[in-house]
Parts: sequence; C-alpha cells; structure tokens
Amino acid sequence: MSGEAPHLDWRGRLDPPPERVREMAAQAVDWLVTYLGGLRERAVYPRASAAALRAELDQPLPALGRSLDELLELFDRVVVANSRHNGHPRSLGYVSSPGTAIATIADFLASGLNANLTAWRSAPGPVQLERVAIDWIKQALGFDPAGIGLFTSGGSTGNLAGLAAARERHTAGLAGRDGVRALERPLVLYASSECHHSIDKAAALLGLGRASVRRPPLDRELRIDAGGLAALIAADRAAGLDPFCIVGSAGTVVTGAIDPLAELVALGRREGLWVHVDGAYGGFAALAPSVRPSFAGLGDADSISLDPHKWLYQPVDCGCVLYRDPQAARAAFALDADYTRVLDGGADESFAFWDYGPDLSRRFRALKVWMTIAHLGADGLAAAVESDLECARVLRELVTTSDDFELIAGGLSIVCFRFVPAELRGRALDEVDQRAIDLLNERLLVAMQRRGSSYVSNATVDGRFALRACIINYRTTAVDMRRLLDDARHSAATVEAEPREDHP
Ligand SMILES: *Cc1c(COP(=O)(O)O)cnc(C)c1O
Repeated sequence: MSGEAPHLDWRGRLDPPPERVREMAAQAVDWLVTYLGGLRERAVYPRASAAALRAELDQPLPALGRSLDELLELFDRVVVANSRHNGHPRSLGYVSSPGTAIATIADFLASGLNANLTAWRSAPGPVQLERVAIDWIKQALGFDPAGIGLFTSGGSTGNLAGLAAARERHTAGLAGRDGVRALERPLVLYASSECHHSIDKAAALLGLGRASVRRPPLDRELRIDAGGLAALIAADRAAGLDPFCIVGSAGTVVTGAIDPLAELVALGRREGLWVHVDGAYGGFAALAPSVRPSFAGLGDADSISLDPHKWLYQPVDCGCVLYRDPQAARAAFALDADYTRVLDGGADESFAFWDYGPDLSRRFRALKVWMTIAHLGADGLAAAVESDLECARVLRELVTTSDDFELIAGGLSIVCFRFVPAELRGRALDEVDQRAIDLLNERLLVAMQRRGSSYVSNATVDGRFALRACIINYRTTAVDMRRLLDDARHSAATVEAEPREDHP
C-alpha cells in the first residue's frame, strides 16, 4: 500500500489489489443487474438536451483522479439516463441489437484477457476460437467450408472488405498495386437502389467513385430483377464500362427485401462477376426455417457481409465478412506474396487475420459470438429469430385488420406502416391527401419518439413517408406490438389536437 492520498495513488489505481478488483467488478455487476431488471419500465428514448449534457459532462482535463464511486454515479445519472435503450422490447427503430447478458459477460472477459487477434502467433487460443466461431457461421448459412472469414467493426467494413477483394480479383492485383488510374476501362458494380449506403461509400473509398454503382431495375417487392440486370450488364459492356461485381441484399434495411440471390449467383458465374451479399441486417434470419427458402443461393456468394451486432443479438461492435476464395482475400489485403504462398500449405501457425481484412490490431470480438452460439445452440438462436419474425407477422396483421393504419411494405422483421386520419379512410387519395398523411405521420413519429413508450424510425417507400418498426429483440412480444399501435394512436391524437401549421 502506498501512503499517498487516494487520488495520487496512480499505481494502486492502475493495478488494484485482487480484493479491490472484486469490489469494482461487483459494483459494475450491480449496475448491470439493476439496469437489465428495470429495462422494460424505462422510456425507450430520453428527453435529452445537448446543452444540459454539455453542462454536466464538459469539464477541463482533470489533473487529479476521482473515485470509481463518483464515476459510476455520473455514468448512471447522466450517461445512462441520456441513452436510447436499445434492449427495451419496444425499441424498434433502425436495426439495433438488444445485446444480451451472455455476450456482455464475454465482452468483459475479452477485455480482461486483452488478447490482440492479429495472427495465430499473437493469440493462439483466441485466434482458434475466432476461426471456430466463423466456421459455425459458415455452417449456419450453408457457406463453402473452404471459405474463410473474420470479425470486423461492422457491416460497413464487411462490405468494404468484400468489394476490395472483388476489385482485386477482377483486376488481377493491378488496382491494388498501381491504383485504379492504371485500369483501361472504368470499373462498375451493380447494387439495388434499396441497398445500404455503405456500398456506395465502399465504392468511393476504393477509388471507383459512387457513380460506379449502377442500379438494376427492381420488381414490385423491391428486389433486383435479374433479367433486367443481365440486360444492364450487356449494355454497360457495350458502352465500354468494365463490370466486376454484383451486390445482392439479404434483407434491405428499409423494407427487408431479399434479392433473388440464387439468380444473382448464377448470373455472376455466367458473366464472370463477383457476387457479394450484404447480409448485415437479414443474413442471420437464414437460421429460421420459416424464411430459410428465401435465402437460397446465399451460401454460394463470393463474399458475405454480416452483422452479429444486429440479428445475432451481440452488443456493438461486431461485424463479419466471409470470402469463398481465401486467395482472393489475400490478394486484396496481404502485402507479402511469398508469405501468402506458405499459407496455401494450410499452416495454421502462420495464419494471420491481417491478410484478410483492413485491420492489424483486432479486439477479441469472437469470444462473445462464440459464447452466445455455444450457450444457446443454433436451435436456440433460430427460435429467437422465429419469435422476432412472428412479432412482425402479428404487427402486419394488426395493421391490415385495423381501420386506422395502413401497411406500406415489409419483409422479414420489418414493418412499414402509417396512420390514416378518420376523414381520409376508405377514399381514393389524391396527392394533396397523400401529402397531408405524410406530414401527419412525420409529426406523429416525433411525438411518439418523445413520449418514449415505443420507438420506431422512419422510411420512405415509393415516395411516401412510413413509420418503420424492425423487430430483432428476443424480449419483444405480441403484447408489445399491440402497445406500439396504441402508442401510435395516442400520438396521432396528440398531433391532430395541436394547432396545424400552414403548409402552402
Ligand atoms: C446496418 C447495415 C449495414 C452497416 O452495418 P454497420 O454495422 O452499421 O457498419 C450495412 N448493410 C445493411 C443492410 C445494414 O442493415
């Protein structure tokens, strides 16, 4: 023990004795238990103000340290109280994972071990565990057993990595070595106008430009029309462009549409194009027997981007990318060609994740994924996903059978809907009516988010404003779906009672 005043005991604070570590951890566990136990009673969204938060948190760099008690008090009173509670059963905005106790504990253990998963040699046990977790994901999706993959910060990085491998294979390494300026013809890729904007971002970061993302025609369910895509590819080639990749979505983020993946894979093979599937939102729904047929072809993609921090219920962050051909990934990310040749011999001990993705230092994300899958089993996870899908079916049914709501779109666990005021129900709507309904629903959404009982986000479908609920939370039940509509009705009534601003 040092004789210093507590706030000067830097050594004791950095490296507390075992009993003190136990006390500190117990305080954190007490917080977690109380938090999870009271989650359902909280408002999903806080009444936060940036000015109030600044007043509480903005302080100059402290010269002296404060006690853990003080810091935990501030964390709970200011930070937690001003958070959106993504684990709440009616937190249905965006695509936000609820997190789960087992993964939270695994994250804690992972930080305690503090392994750095750069390469097998740096962390043999953790690296092997990541490879096992990736193998389980491959098996769950029916992906080629010879494929390879790794966990990433998120689905955006997964998309970037998949497209980087596609670009490198198509240009036989020229783009990576000399840059895209060395290419004779401009590279183009194909992705739905409904695809996630991280695809456009990846195209920009890879030097191809956002304009290189070409939009195939869509069918009425907002899925890529494979025949129309084939015609577009032919026309682009004739115009001197150089197609290299087709991107399919295994669940679009706005309406949950699944592109015809088997057709896209067949087209890609015929045309010599890489097929990347963005499964960040919906990929893990392939676990659920009731929707599995819609994912036919997913396992045959050249690369897949996934987000365990969405429908595998992991706390952020955890994305994932899988490649069918390990050599194609190495071509994009490994810098030493001789070194990659050693890997072809399958020497596990010389395996390095840095050969397969953009990062060098990598946290031990695999532990939470592995523990979750090992603890629940594939059947347990499939049942949880089925329960989310069932909630979405219940909500669609409640919406369609109600006389005040209208279903706009929605596949998988996404439901896009809107409130229709009494005077406009059962009528042919002209553009003025439609605009009035859009505005009413916009105001309803803001009112509902402020009220905090249910939280949904918004979407634009066919130019119309929609309330959008996305259910990827094992805590959500059919009762919550009824409550959501009651909350929306309540907010509609509040908004309709407010004086209307004039919209010319
Ligand atoms: C969320 C999402 C992404 C981006 O993933 P991040 O983990 O947020 O980077 C990409 N595509 C789809 C379909 C998504 O739902």
